[in-house]
Order: sequence, then structure tokens, then C-alpha cells
Amino acid sequence: MNNKQFAVIGIGRFGSSVARSLSEMGYEVLAIDSDEQRTQEISSIVTHAVSADSTDEDALRALGIRNFDVVVVAIGEDIQASILTTLILKDLGVPLIVVKAQNELHGKVLQKIGADKVIFPERDMGLRVAHHLTSPNILDYIELSEDYSIVEMRVTDAMVGKNMKELSIRAQFGCNVMAIKKGTKMNISPSPDDRLEKEDVLIIVGEKGNLQKLEMAYSK
Ligand code: ATP
Repeated sequence: MNNKQFAVIGIGRFGSSVARSLSEMGYEVLAIDSDEQRTQEISSIVTHAVSADSTDEDALRALGIRNFDVVVVAIGEDIQASILTTLILKDLGVPLIVVKAQNELHGKVLQKIGADKVIFPERDMGLRVAHHLTSPNILDYIELSEDYSIVEMRVTDAMVGKNMKELSIRAQFGCNVMAIKKGTKMNISPSPDDRLEKEDVLIIVGEKGNLQKLEMAYSK
């Protein structure tokens, strides 16, 4: 059992998935939701599940929330409750606060009041699906920052048989191939002589515009 302790506030679809995954990874998880039925449902999966209103500072204090290493706020629809909860957690001195934002403005407010990490699961998933739909060679897409992303790209016919030097992705597109996936095997330090085969997958990091040029060059 790993000794890092997590609390998840708001056990909707997203919160329950986070709580369940952490639990399955062996972490201690406290799940909090104002809806008793939600806490009941998750109680057999996580270490503790309690019904409480997270906008009630005394209730959070009584739960000893400040002793948790990470608190995830996964309240979606009630933006006011999400902001108030984050403020209280910050005041109580929780070391790492991760909050799910409903939209950009909500995200900005959360950042201003001191959320350590703001996540946009729907937006990010939408982005990934869109990239995969528009260029079928793109298997996955992860946004690192406003300007940089990582893509998982299936090797195209034009790449098969070439080595990394011949492909010269860095020189041509300014992107870096971090790894080559060959089935279940992963080559995490590709060398210039590594030759690409059908079914290989490249993991590439780069500036968004450059990645797009690369995607387009190989989309035919
Ligand atoms: P998802 O998409 O993950 O289902 P959602 O965007 O629909 O989430 P909500 O259903 O609004 O999010 O909220 C998630 C959970 O947060 C709900 O189970 C709700 O009961 C809980 N919740 C809302 N407000 C509070 C609060 N003040 N204190 C504790 N839990 C709360």
C-alpha cells in the first residue's frame, strides 16, 4: 500500500473514475459527496466515503482534509460550490489541489484563487477525438501547454523501411521523436539507424504548428 493520501470531492462520473483508479492503484482515498447515495455507491471501492457539503469549512476541517497530500475537486455543474470548496481547501493549507473546470472562465478563476492544477477533461478528450477523426494516423493527442503537444502517430506507408536519419523529422519539422512503439515493446531512445516497420507507432513531441505540418505531410 502506497502511503500517499488522496481525497476526491464530488463523486460524479469523473470523480468516481479518479477515486476508483487511485484505489485500484493501492492508494488511500477519501471520497466526499453531498449526495448520500453517491457516497454509498463508492463506499465499497474506496478507503472511506462520507457525505458532506464541501462548501462547509467546518465539515472539511472535521474530516481532517488538511492532512491529505492531494485533494481533487470534481464538482462540475455547481461552479460556485467548486470555487468555494477550492478557496476553503487553499485556506486550510492542502498541499496540492487539483480542480476540474467546467469552462475556460471557471478555469481562470480557479487558477487565480490558487488551484495548483486545473483540468478540463471534456475539452481535452474532445481535442483528442477530433485529432484522431481528422487524421486517422493520429492515435492520440495530448496537449502539454498552449504551444506544445505530444502525438502518437501510426507509421505511414511513406515512412516504412526508412530509418530515423532518412526520415529527418527533427530537421524537416522541428519535432522530436521521443519513442517508437513496436507492438508491446517500446524503444525510448530511438537512434538515427532505427528503421521503421509497418504497424510501428511514433511518439512525437513538438510545437503544435509543426506537429500539424507533420500530420499533413503524412496524411496522404
Ligand atoms: P461528471 O461529468 O463527472 O458526472 P458533473 O459535471 O455532472 O460531473 P456534478 O454532477 O455537477 O458534476 O457534480 C459531481 C458531484 O459533485 C455530484 O455527485 C454532486 O453531488 C457533488 N457535489 C456538488 N456540490 C457539492 C458540494 N457542495 N459538496 C459535495 N459534493 C458536491
